[in-house]
Amino acid sequence: MPLNITILGSGTSTGVPVLGCSCGVCKSKDPKNERWRASIAVRHNNGHTVVVDTGPEFRLQLLRANISTLQHVIYTHLHADHCHGFDDLRGLYFSSEKPITCWLHPTLIPELKQRFHYAFEDTGYLGGRPDIRLLPFPQEHGTTTIADMEIETFLAPHGNAFTNVLRFGRFAYATDFKTLSDANIKAWRGKIHTMVASGLRWRSHKTHSSIDETLEIFKRLDVERGIITHLNHEIDFEVDSRKLPSHVELAFDGLEFVVPE
Ligand SMILES: [Zn+2]
Ligand SMILES: [Zn+2]
Ligand SMILES: [Zn+2]
Repeated sequence: MPLNITILGSGTSTGVPVLGCSCGVCKSKDPKNERWRASIAVRHNNGHTVVVDTGPEFRLQLLRANISTLQHVIYTHLHADHCHGFDDLRGLYFSSEKPITCWLHPTLIPELKQRFHYAFEDTGYLGGRPDIRLLPFPQEHGTTTIADMEIETFLAPHGNAFTNVLRFGRFAYATDFKTLSDANIKAWRGKIHTMVASGLRWRSHKTHSSIDETLEIFKRLDVERGIITHLNHEIDFEVDSRKLPSHVELAFDGLEFVVPE
């Protein structure tokens, strides 16, 4: 299945520019240095679209990518930069009147329901309740069919949390992880054509993989094309792109590409 991928957002939790910061990247005129919170859209030639994560700019991201209907959402984890655009699913539901299904790790379902309780209970408010269904990924590792696509997931550590790493055929998306386990790397080695993975910055970080650590993962997985996302304001698109190997690039908002079958 050839997939069309759009980077809806390539930024870390603060977004770039960072509020109150006057560094060169935050003041840059290069649109590739403006980063909304990390998210992607995966469009299948069967007509279905799956969005991974709904950060604070979710509504703007859908408008910019020309996505007017959406029925399938995946959450990698529930940090604010990945799910606080959840409320915009209401608007999507009210215009399409089609149920929206969200997949996430089973232990996170009660937490999402608690944060957005008004979307799941009758509040008596006239606007009514959207039809949003929460469905669980496998506990540790497994395959789920979403919008006629087989998606394999496993967990990766992210500080005291974890994140669901995803593989859609020959495309993989991994954001907000510190490492991927040796066993998981071995299982996916040679299976991935294109991988979008978070890299944050060059300096190491306690809960995120650095760019060097992500480059090592691309190498061990033997990906043909690696794209680094979830970048902070230490990364200047033009300057830092030059430091990468030829098959690796930095993500930027609006980047679109096709992953061959
Ligand atoms: Zn994040
Ligand atoms: Zn800055
Ligand atoms: Zn996170």
